[in-house]
Amino acid sequence: MTDIKTIGVVGAGQMGRGIAQVAAMSGYEVFVFDISKEGLDFGLQFIDKQLGRGVEKGKWDQAFVDSTKSNLTGITDMAKLNTCDLIIEAATENKKIKFEIFKQLDEVAKPGAILASNTSSISITEIAAVTKRPEAVAGMHFMNPVPVMKLVETITGLETSEATISAVEAASEKMGKTVVRADDVAGFAVNRILMPMINEAFYTLYEGVADAKGIDNAMKLGCNQPMGPLELADFIGLDTCLAIMEVLHEGLGDTKYRACPLLKKYVTAGRFGRKVGKGVYEY
Ligand code: NAD
Repeated sequence: MTDIKTIGVVGAGQMGRGIAQVAAMSGYEVFVFDISKEGLDFGLQFIDKQLGRGVEKGKWDQAFVDSTKSNLTGITDMAKLNTCDLIIEAATENKKIKFEIFKQLDEVAKPGAILASNTSSISITEIAAVTKRPEAVAGMHFMNPVPVMKLVETITGLETSEATISAVEAASEKMGKTVVRADDVAGFAVNRILMPMINEAFYTLYEGVADAKGIDNAMKLGCNQPMGPLELADFIGLDTCLAIMEVLHEGLGDTKYRACPLLKKYVTAGRFGRKVGKGVYEY
């Protein structure tokens, strides 16, 4: 099994910065790459703040923060990922973007390196097929926020080798996560269940069954969910939710997965949720 010491992260957004933080805290040497210099700087500053908050709250000490920071390097040249044993892609949920990234990563990554995607729904078999190393490509689906959420859903593509998936699962466990292995079917396990519920919450709002606060309270107080589905959608990103619904609809072919027109309308208007300051709610 590949001995993973160095991890590359592609994308320094909500998920990438969380994965980079947790990997660095677990003792891996980590290189974070983002196509946007602004995005990269914001992601690294966000990690700094999170680490500082941990010291204030007494979760860890300054020496731990210093060693975590020394494990982290931000890069704007993808070629610098060539020393990584495992590269985890966490860029925008869009097939075209991910296929292009994996083609480039296949050129840049050293022989034997594993390429993983944090995609919420896109087929790992399709992503692997754009590379010349499909046996070394797997899904590694972290949950948001990464430092808090315990689960990593791992996904085996058609050609993913047992050695690859075992190495990815061992790395997830070293990062303190519990693994659930899922097959490569649109949405895997988590989003096959979660996204239709969120989409139905948008239909409930669209049809005027209840208002947004009412829908969220119904699910929090009536079903013991820690966040209401619309709050959660804002937290995930409405653009990401819509992209996942479109993959479910296309991949499973059932009209029950069609995205709610109201969700589409919010995304068209640029109301992507918390990350831009407004979604269903304003922040
Ligand atoms: P985000 O919009 O916060 O961040 C995406 C980042 O990718 C941005 O910083 C952007 O600059 C960067 N990017 C875009 N194209 C790139 C490229 N070609 N090369 C390098 N970087 C590029 O999105 P996110 O919420 O972090 O989602 C990232 C991935 O994680 C998606 O596949 C999403 O489905 C998945 N995911 C999201 C959540 C969630 O709750 N948001 C949960 C689990 C998985």
